[in-house]
Amino acid sequence: MVEAQIARRGVRDERVLAAMREVPRERFVIEAMRGYAFEDSALPIEAGQTISQPYIVALMLEAAAIEPSDRVLEIGAGSGYAAAVAGRLAREVHAIERLDELATLARERMAALGYDNVRIYAGDGTHGLPDAAPFDAILVAAGAPSVPATLRDQLVIGGRLVLPVGGSGVQRLLRIVRRGEDAFDEEDLGGVRFVPLIGAHGWSEPG
Ligand code: SAH
Repeated sequence: MVEAQIARRGVRDERVLAAMREVPRERFVIEAMRGYAFEDSALPIEAGQTISQPYIVALMLEAAAIEPSDRVLEIGAGSGYAAAVAGRLAREVHAIERLDELATLARERMAALGYDNVRIYAGDGTHGLPDAAPFDAILVAAGAPSVPATLRDQLVIGGRLVLPVGGSGVQRLLRIVRRGEDAFDEEDLGGVRFVPLIGAHGWSEPG
């Protein structure tokens, strides 16, 4: 999967590729989908959500330029897969999932795999995690209506925020780099498709 689908599409960061080889994706998908775990596509997980496409996980992690000493925040932990891969790259990962059921499962998966530098929280990730901030990198795995200032402001100077911005359907994947207290660079990395980011600084609750 890694060679054929990720390296060939342009992800070159060797640490990212090694981390993707190391984390068993089949442990993060539902039983019925095990046979598809190594195809480069998003797959359904519990609670009507999805595990991201491996190529997109790799692209986001490469864009976040995670160093071994980094502290990382992920919003939208879902299955926990991306957080697990990030955990192989970083010193510690804090990952927030809005749906309790998914947060519990993700936490169990980390424990089963012995990934003890990845901490899963249940709650609205659009607030970030003020108590553990600032972060060297923040990844958002759900499409936001705009860049939440709450997250931007929890970056260290030099920190990277990688997130999809846009409505349902297609979003733009952005990389925001904090250059100074109030200075941020923004770069468009291309079109992506994510489920909506639902919360106080995201879209409002469905229904
Ligand atoms: N990174 C995940 C992808 C999960 S899909 C993986 O590798 O499997 C995105 C997830 O974002 C969904 O599980 C959804 O419930 C969650 N989500 C949406 N809005 C959120 C919010 N405000 N805070 C935390 N999680 C949120």
